[in-house]
This record gives sequence, structure tokens and C-alpha cells, in this order.
Amino acid sequence: MSVLSALLDATRSGAVEIVDLTTPLQSSTPILELPEPFANTSRFRLEELSRYDDRGPAWYWNDIHTGEHTGTHLDAPVHWVTGKDGLDVSQAPLSTLVSSAVVLDLSAEVAENPDFVLEVEHVRAWQAEHGPLPEGGWLLYRTGWDARGDDAAGPHTPGVSADCAQWLAEESPIAGLGVETVGTDAGAAPGFTPPFPCHSFLLGAGKWGLTSLRNITRLPPTGSVLVVCPLPIVDGSGSPARVLALVER
Ligand code: MN
Repeated sequence: MSVLSALLDATRSGAVEIVDLTTPLQSSTPILELPEPFANTSRFRLEELSRYDDRGPAWYWNDIHTGEHTGTHLDAPVHWVTGKDGLDVSQAPLSTLVSSAVVLDLSAEVAENPDFVLEVEHVRAWQAEHGPLPEGGWLLYRTGWDARGDDAAGPHTPGVSADCAQWLAEESPIAGLGVETVGTDAGAAPGFTPPFPCHSFLLGAGKWGLTSLRNITRLPPTGSVLVVCPLPIVDGSGSPARVLALVER
């Protein structure tokens, strides 16, 4: 049997579950909110063109208004000044968009401290139990923040220390970091050195960010496959994305 036939059989039988990691995209979807004097991104919005009426008697359709970084989305290297000569979102390698994923669950620590930051020692402890991080794959950082709803964009949100962000960017084999918060960096990261270290180091190293994920809790620590589908926005710094995971049961 071909590999793809076997995969389809497995999804039908439930031997492989397809888990949707995407936050539904609507006007209430939480977005990043930067302090003054910085420009902010738009909330998602539908603009109705017709709905089986005089404007279009047999059809319903909308224009959409959205930021590149609205809802579950992919950050491209070119999003950050450190990656300004890197790839835009339309150039994301397909082998990165479909790749393996591992889950680091620090939700218990974050429940105690919303300003919790991931350190290299946490990753090393995970590796001691589960093995190396995946070459060209995704590190999904579970914090429990997907349950926070509108609280997703506050100044007290978990993230990654500057040391750990640099280590993930320069020493680890991952292609990207996925998080449950609206951005890969902690709420307090404007005050880190450097500011926004995940963005600075990871995007500067040509790596990718993935945000506002949910249902990470349904993934095992290792062995799942991520399917990330951003819009191929030419020259885009990011894009809303549908993110699916394939999980063996
Ligand atoms: Mn972003």
C-alpha cells in the first residue's frame, strides 16, 4: 500500500487523528496590542458584499479586513529587522510548513506565574526525557494560555527568556516556535535585552513563529506532524494560517 493510501485509511479509521490547532477567525479574535507610540494591527472583520439580495440575488460573499498578524498566524523572518533580508511569508519552505512537532508543557508553571519565561534548562530537561528537538520541525510551547480568551494580549503573558530564545535560534535544530499567546514573546518582552528576543533571535536566524494556537494539549510530547497553511502573501511579513496536526492514536 502506498504511504498516502495508508495515511488516508488511518485518518478514516481514527488511527491518525487530525487536530485543528487554529483559533476561529472573527472580530472578537484576540490580537496583539502594542503600547503608544507604536502602530497596531487590525482586528479581523467581514464586510458583507451581498447575501442573496439586490446586491447579489443568488450569492453570499464578503470582503475580509485583517492584519497579517491577526489570529492564528505565521511570522516570517522578514517580520523583524534582524531578518529583514530573509524570507517573506509567501516564500515559506513547504518542508517547514509540513513538518514534525514536539510539545513542551509548562502550563503548571504558568498557572503559578503568568510572567513565566521558558529557559534553556527547561528545554534540556525535556530533552533528557523525550530526546532531541526535531530537525527542521516545530517546538510547540504549551502554557495554558489558549483558555484565556480576551486576556490573551495583556502585559503579563508567558514567553521565552532572551538566553533561551538565542539558544533556540542559534543552537537548536528547530525551524520554528509555536505558542498559544498572540505573539511568541512574553508580555514583558519589550523590557528584555534585546527587546522581543524571540522575534529578534528566531526571525533573525531565518526561523518562523506561529501564534494563537489551541488544542496543543491534544498532542503528544513527540511524534505529531504539523500542517501550517498561511496565505502566500507576496512580500508579506506574516499571514493568518490554518494549522492542523496529525496525531497517531
Ligand atoms: Mn506576529
